[in-house]
Amino acid sequence: MIAMMTIAAWLAGVNNMLLPIVGETNAEVVASEAAPDSDDPLTRPIAASRAAEWLAPADPEKIFGTSYLVGFGGMSVALIDTGAGLVLVDGALPQGAPAILANVRKLGFDPRDIKFILSTEPHFDHAGGLAALARDTGATVVASRRGAEGLRAGRHAADDPQLAYGGSWPAVTRLRVVRDGEVLRFGKTAITAIATPGHTMGSMSWRWQACEGEACKTIVFAASLNPVSAEGYRFTSKAGAPFVKGFDESYRKMDAMPCDVLISAHPDNAGPGRYSDRPGACRAYAERSRKLLAKRLADEKAGVK
Ligand SMILES: [Zn+2]
Repeated sequence: MIAMMTIAAWLAGVNNMLLPIVGETNAEVVASEAAPDSDDPLTRPIAASRAAEWLAPADPEKIFGTSYLVGFGGMSVALIDTGAGLVLVDGALPQGAPAILANVRKLGFDPRDIKFILSTEPHFDHAGGLAALARDTGATVVASRRGAEGLRAGRHAADDPQLAYGGSWPAVTRLRVVRDGEVLRFGKTAITAIATPGHTMGSMSWRWQACEGEACKTIVFAASLNPVSAEGYRFTSKAGAPFVKGFDESYRKMDAMPCDVLISAHPDNAGPGRYSDRPGACRAYAERSRKLLAKRLADEKAGVK
């Protein structure tokens, strides 16, 4: 019912009102500029101040073995050819969905072979395109319990540090919930779900092995660990405590896990390039967030934030 109401609201043009950015920065709010020729409610553009940068066109790129990038210059979307169907990771913004499918086709694959789409977090910049991608491919979206709640609603959870930004995105209806540590087996590929809470409580990272002959690399698609919030939110408040605890848990996991290649949901959070195969990439990714969170907590305590 919630999903139907959300889509009904979407069809009624609710998304044409001012939409704040609910992504990774406290960038300025801009007005939505729904393309006049777009009558598809699931790909109707969500305008955010960084949307053009996030969705900078990029050719598909092979990472290793049968793993590829099919997203954008500033927003990661991965494709895995498991040998028993295709798996996509993340869906970017709604208006990005057609370009993702075009990149899948450029690699010689049929988008209708995408069986599952793994989601890192319920925010419009990574999940806005999931509804369109699921509809156009027939795929089932896979997320954590808290992630799936947000995807079904197409809006922020009540405890989300970015809740006050408001806004919504197309809701996902066909979902499968996975637990922390659960292994999804598709053909020759085993993909492990790793809960990495903090940025949202439902954030999930995904890890798998990509092989070329006998040579294999462990690839980690890491959910955002950016400790950002809407204005006025305090991570040092009682409501913020589970998030700080979540970040700590996520740092420990990122520090310890095998990680030959890091794909960061926002590539600029992992240094130069669309992915990183530098030694210690996952530990560096955690360290970057650890420093940002420490500064944020110190600023809150000092009354600066
Ligand atoms: Zn986010």
